[in-house]
Amino acid sequence: MVVTSLDFDKPGKQQGFLQVPYSHNLGGWANVMIPITVIVHGKGPTVLALGGNHGDEYQGQIAIMKLARQVMPEQVTGRLILIPSLNFPAARAATRLSPLDGMNMNRAFPGEPEGPVTSQIAHYLRTVLFPISDVVIDIHSGGRSMEFVPCSHMHVVPDREQRARMMAAMLAWNSDFHFLYADIAGTGLLPVEAENQGRLVITTEMGGGEGIPASVHRLTQSGLRNVLIHVGALKGREQTRAGLGLPPAILTQALHREDYLLAPESGVFEIAVELGAKVKKGQAIGSIHHLERADRTPEPVIAQSAGYLITMRAPCLTQQGDCVAVIAQRVNARDVLRA
Ligand SMILES: [Zn+2]
Repeated sequence: MVVTSLDFDKPGKQQGFLQVPYSHNLGGWANVMIPITVIVHGKGPTVLALGGNHGDEYQGQIAIMKLARQVMPEQVTGRLILIPSLNFPAARAATRLSPLDGMNMNRAFPGEPEGPVTSQIAHYLRTVLFPISDVVIDIHSGGRSMEFVPCSHMHVVPDREQRARMMAAMLAWNSDFHFLYADIAGTGLLPVEAENQGRLVITTEMGGGEGIPASVHRLTQSGLRNVLIHVGALKGREQTRAGLGLPPAILTQALHREDYLLAPESGVFEIAVELGAKVKKGQAIGSIHHLERADRTPEPVIAQSAGYLITMRAPCLTQQGDCVAVIAQRVNARDVLRA
């Protein structure tokens, strides 16, 4: 049911919309209109770059809007399909989930052609855009709920050749940390659908919270460009950390449930260690204070594994069962590629 006036094969730059039918009380034939830019020039891969999978994660949305305005067709070798705010209604509302249907875009796959708006977008990606793409970039951050060490990340996919290409592209973001993650919170993820279609998938967690430092914007934007050069879709010289005078990146993974620490009870969360710091197993990485019983000793949150604090909860106010921290262990790339 999703339509667009854009011709994905036409050389040059086109700006338009994906239009998703959405009927509401004051709009019978209304559409949700999601901005999209297509830039086609010469021979090369097709890259689909997505921001705003979760609406309250603006780093990628800004980076992709800027890229869409700045890149001229003659700089492209292949095709760029750029969607800055994939879950557009959520981006306008500064929410993680769509305010129209309450759905999480990153749990909406495979999607339905005549389902809720979010489900229709997922179906369109799965059946139209993923099949014509070689590379899928999905830029996340922690949004309003989490604050990450800015990093590019990936799944350890079963296919070794695909895994090696994804690893190289992930490293090309040139962030200080990289993160191999597990899906502890269900199925229907966008990257998993793209991976299952054999695509080279690159995802990120570019910081988080509501105030985004300039350095995180810069890393989001420089990383995106460098990855586009790395995969051969944009002209330019690929930058490496060594070339930039930076130490080697730290590759980490959190593949076990105990690495994801949940609030044992509701209250006000206080973090006790710095983001990106090393923690020991058994260490109290934070505590939960009781607003109603200020005299009670705060409930400690104990690390169940040793590693780096890769992400923490952004707002202090916390409900029982909210993820308050993730501890990631250092790994080396060779072991991950061989596994
Ligand atoms: Zn996200």
